[in-house]
Amino acid sequence: MIELNGVQTLCYVIKTHSQATEHQMGPWCPAHIEDGMEKAGIWFKDDKVYDVSGHFIAHLDEFYSDNKWKLYREDGTIRVTETKEGCLAAAKPNVDKEYNNYCVQCLPDYFKNQVTTFVIPATPTYLNTTQSLGRGGIGVAFNGVKYDPPAPTDAILAAHTIAPLDDHGGHVNPHGGYHYHAVTSGTKEITQTDAHSAIIGYAIDGFGIYAFLDKNNHKPVDLDECGGHFDDERGYHYHAGEPGGNKIIKCLHGLPGYTELKE
Ligand SMILES: [Zn+2]
Ligand SMILES: [Zn+2]
Repeated sequence: MIELNGVQTLCYVIKTHSQATEHQMGPWCPAHIEDGMEKAGIWFKDDKVYDVSGHFIAHLDEFYSDNKWKLYREDGTIRVTETKEGCLAAAKPNVDKEYNNYCVQCLPDYFKNQVTTFVIPATPTYLNTTQSLGRGGIGVAFNGVKYDPPAPTDAILAAHTIAPLDDHGGHVNPHGGYHYHAVTSGTKEITQTDAHSAIIGYAIDGFGIYAFLDKNNHKPVDLDECGGHFDDERGYHYHAGEPGGNKIIKCLHGLPGYTELKE
């Protein structure tokens, strides 16, 4: 029993290294403006997903209508954070000046010994009020990787940096290592007996998170402001947002647990 919001609650306590096992982590940043999209990950703007090819990096000034963008050198190589020190200086809200105009990537190895603890109510409690997402994990995928709140794109873009996600929607930061900001595919999921989309993990309030599209490629209808709804089979549950939206879920409708990080 763990006290959540003053209520003694039976919880699952799950400890993970937040590392994907069933798919490759990365790549994120291309090394050269002639690199194809297979050498890099994805980025998003206005609900759309873009492949971060070298060509994409070379044209960020047009993409954002801002001629201060220039992530590449005269020889076509791209400025990428190459070390843990570079990652620590660039993968934070207040990006160090010397890492302005960088493609920011951190490697899973830098933080592989960090342990993330997820405390999740065993029986979720639906609340009539919603709770906005904090800075901690908002859920966990079946592979033990953390679902994070939206990437802080305002801070990232203000420094003329991008921090690509890999094709599975994940990247690494110093606060727990590898984590997802988008649900694409390729992680463990449990298909449903009806046409409903598969469950892919749990939110930090204990309600299930399901894929966006159902077996007939239909989008869910009647989602509330958090991205959830009720049905007879599953009760209240969430559907992960579309990958370009930078929001796996938008808020919490249940009594939330919490995550803790041990470095
Ligand atoms: Zn992130
Ligand atoms: Zn549903």
